[in-house]
Amino acid sequence: MYKTHNFSAGPCILPNNVLQQASKSIINFDNNLSLIEISHRSQPFDEVMNNAKQLVKDLLSVPLGYSILFLQGGASLQFSMVPYNLMKINGTAVYLNTGTWATKAIKEAKKFGNVVVAADSCESNYSSIPKNYTFPKEYNYFHCTSNNTIYGTQIKNFPSLNGIMVCDMSSDIFSRKINIKDFDLIYAGAQKNMGPAGTTLVIIKDEILGKSGRDIPSMLDYNTHIEKNSMFNTPPVFSIYVSMLTLQWLKNLGGISYIENENIKKADLLYNEIDKNSIFEGTAQKEDRSNMNVCFKLKDKSKEQDFNNMCNNAKISGIKGHRSVGGYRASIYNAMPIESIEVLIDVMQKLEKK
Ligand SMILES: *Cc1c(COP(=O)(O)O)cnc(C)c1O
Repeated sequence: MYKTHNFSAGPCILPNNVLQQASKSIINFDNNLSLIEISHRSQPFDEVMNNAKQLVKDLLSVPLGYSILFLQGGASLQFSMVPYNLMKINGTAVYLNTGTWATKAIKEAKKFGNVVVAADSCESNYSSIPKNYTFPKEYNYFHCTSNNTIYGTQIKNFPSLNGIMVCDMSSDIFSRKINIKDFDLIYAGAQKNMGPAGTTLVIIKDEILGKSGRDIPSMLDYNTHIEKNSMFNTPPVFSIYVSMLTLQWLKNLGGISYIENENIKKADLLYNEIDKNSIFEGTAQKEDRSNMNVCFKLKDKSKEQDFNNMCNNAKISGIKGHRSVGGYRASIYNAMPIESIEVLIDVMQKLEKK
């Protein structure tokens, strides 16, 4: 079934039966019309939107008082929408800088007001998550990135705060249990762990909105999209539909508690090999290691060509590390079967034995 073992960091592997169903719906979704040629205002698509929202609600136990949105512009547009909607004029926002994506979020927030970087793991090339930091007396919100896709670190314990908590969960949403009540705004680009590129999930506590004192362009105002059920303009129908299928797949498997266990098993298997294999080493600090993006290196760079060739022969795809880290990154999102990880481990062991 898996001809190629897809370890890509994003867009990422999706469940095979989801791809099968999606391809059928491209041809005939309803009454011999394609999913991508019917009106987004039609009843069949309305059901898709509501179903997708309900699945998010069920899987994450989203309580009352939160809205669920499917927006466009990627997680990257959220870097601007968050401060536009939440940062008061002359206000302050606090950011935790744990890597490339956080750095980009900080850059955009600075265009709206004062940004305090509570902690920054830049000196260690983002190989760890800062833990002991303090908050200024007053701030409009705190922003963190739950999983650092590029450097392979993950926040295991979120700080508890009194203020508004915003989190970029692009690369680990639906991978582990979270308590939605600990967060006021969560956003996630679909293409890491939920579906294809093109939509961004936003889960937002309604009461935090409308307080920035800014005149926000309609498309950038969360309230616009809440009022219109994410259909203020034409939504990315395909991306929302395939996300819905993926969430249904996850629910059928047993939901978040099931997949969290699987993800821990998969990550442990691979990290154990990295630690015991004499020719490889992990790049992230052990306690902060990501269960989604496993970053590692060959101790002896001259073996890289050999390893790359062996990976190619084993049909392992997408494990080249990000250019800012080098080495290798195996992204093992929800849809990655444990068998693919076993194939990678087998190649690592064969290279060690050579
Ligand atoms: C990929 C990624 C982004 C950027 O997502 P786009 O949808 O491409 O804008 C932002 N944050 C994190 C943590 C990511 O992994």
